[in-house]
Amino acid sequence: MPSRALKKKSVVTDPVEPAVTPPPKSPETTFLTKPKLSPKSRKRDMPEGLWIRCPECEELIYDKELDDNLKVCPKCGHHFPIASRERIHSLVETCSFEEMDAQMEAVDVLQFTGAASYESKLAANRKKSPLLKDAVVTGIGRIGHHRVALGVMDFSFLGGSMGSVVGEKLTRLIEIGTDRGLPVVIISASGGARMYEGMFSLMQMAKTCGALAYHAKHKLPYISVLTDPTYAGVIASFATIGDLILAEPKAGIGFAGARVIKDTTQAELPEGFQTAEFLQKHGLIDAIVSRKEMKDRLVYYLDFLTAGRRPH
Ligand SMILES: [Zn+2]
Repeated sequence: MPSRALKKKSVVTDPVEPAVTPPPKSPETTFLTKPKLSPKSRKRDMPEGLWIRCPECEELIYDKELDDNLKVCPKCGHHFPIASRERIHSLVETCSFEEMDAQMEAVDVLQFTGAASYESKLAANRKKSPLLKDAVVTGIGRIGHHRVALGVMDFSFLGGSMGSVVGEKLTRLIEIGTDRGLPVVIISASGGARMYEGMFSLMQMAKTCGALAYHAKHKLPYISVLTDPTYAGVIASFATIGDLILAEPKAGIGFAGARVIKDTTQAELPEGFQTAEFLQKHGLIDAIVSRKEMKDRLVYYLDFLTAGRRPH
């Protein structure tokens, strides 16, 4: 009996190599010994930044190939997040983009502190993306033969949230567009209004919409492009009042998140709820355009929307 118990125990603790490399004993030994890896762990510890696994088709994609393909999976067409500057580069003619208000920075007027202070969050995000001062890049550029006032949100900066800076930069962009008789194109990617700025964030919803109403009064077009994800205060303001509303394929778009709605209403949500395709079917979105087609389609739509107007 004792020998059987012993045998059973030995099966349970059969020595297998750890899946994760154990931490080094001291900082000095960090790079001195080569960790032994099992085939399983070797696969998992692939060098970061060279290959990316597509969450849709699970193919491994070489990151350079993904960059060359505008961050769209070459196998299945899944749209990965793309930085605002890369997106601008993909849309405007070379050297035609003049950025506006590049140095505008948020101020912590409320001295807000939640899990972390707003100041520290801003500092961390500016450090993470040194080219970004806030969650939107705005400027005047040329898409095909059209000069446009272009605003591109960046989800990597505090979830693309709209605070005073995003609202002010977009409002100034729209106003310059109105003054110069230019179409406005805004590409959204946002979790909504920036709660660290409380009421000041919510006021940006009215401010941007007011500027767009004035722009529309001058019979100038506004195209809104929704990308994954566009939610809450942004979807409830400037993002859904475009003369044309486009979206990238399978983008998540909505006001409150699906889980919140499900918990509140206790109802079963329909399939594809809050996707670009669902919203196109229900009339909110005019067209779904893939990132690689976006520039040509914008030129096509702008041709149509500005037909008969003299260029400024
Ligand atoms: Zn894929």
